[in-house]
Amino acid sequence: MTNMIEARGLTHEYIQRDEEGNVQGIQTAVDHVDLDVKSGQFISILGHNGSGKSTLAKHLNALLSPTEGTLYIDGIEAGKEENILNIRRTAGMVFQNPDNQIIASVVEEDVGFGPENIGIPTDEIWQRVEKSLKSVGMWEYRKHSPNKLSGGQKQRVAIAGVMAMQPKCIVLDEPTAMLDPDGRKDVIEAVHELNRKKGVTIILITHYMEEVVDSDYVYVMDKGNVVLKGTPREVFKQADVLKAHRLDVPQVTELAYELRQAGVPLPESILTREEFREAMRELWANAK
Ligand code: ADP
Ligand code: MG
Repeated sequence: MTNMIEARGLTHEYIQRDEEGNVQGIQTAVDHVDLDVKSGQFISILGHNGSGKSTLAKHLNALLSPTEGTLYIDGIEAGKEENILNIRRTAGMVFQNPDNQIIASVVEEDVGFGPENIGIPTDEIWQRVEKSLKSVGMWEYRKHSPNKLSGGQKQRVAIAGVMAMQPKCIVLDEPTAMLDPDGRKDVIEAVHELNRKKGVTIILITHYMEEVVDSDYVYVMDKGNVVLKGTPREVFKQADVLKAHRLDVPQVTELAYELRQAGVPLPESILTREEFREAMRELWANAK
């Protein structure tokens, strides 16, 4: 597998200045972060508010450039003016608020806006619109007004809009933060589908533990640093470390942990309801 993202000592400082331009303060939002993402992987980045996730995400899309360190997106070096467009074409970005990402008054036009903007021929635009909307389960809404959709549907339209640009990689910065549980589930499923079926590399930023359990790899950030990384199972085994960084394990993992403390012989590192149900069923069968 080739490297989609490689960061070495990536650092970003926000510099605050007063009216005369004198430096008032420096905020190190990303602090010597190493990141390795292979092509086709599904990676999650977890972290409490202010831990530097959005700042990191903006580097992956060349909205910011590194203060220090190096960053390559699909082999293209970030921080160089001449590479900005190329990086944006490689890595698409989905933001938290779906309302800010809607441009047109009809869903299919909204999705076609990006490709049209970069001069894709009309018949190919429509092919892309169809494929993208189908891949996020929103094809039947193509003639609808985006404003009348639910949050989760809007967000899936936004993802289709990014897909229509055919990026190799999609970075989603807390795409579910403003959605209800159903909308969250649909969005996360749609993103997994793009990853599985289209091989799109995914960087999912979230603070919902439940959303990262199916990732290939998880990075946990706090105060600009990567404080924990590993497979979801490796990461969620370290409940104490997560707590120290103001994060929790998934609810079902927590419950299994408490039951184990109370003497119920459940296996370690249960991550999903299915695993929990299976473990309980087995206990029950053995007890009879
Ligand atoms: P997260 O997305 O994890 O909530 P951010 O990347 O938004 O974290 O912020 C990381 C840190 O950088 C925070 O302390 C935040 O206050 C600071 N920060 C974010 N954006 C700016 C900015 N434009 N100017 C100055 N400081 C900023
Ligand atoms: Mg953020």
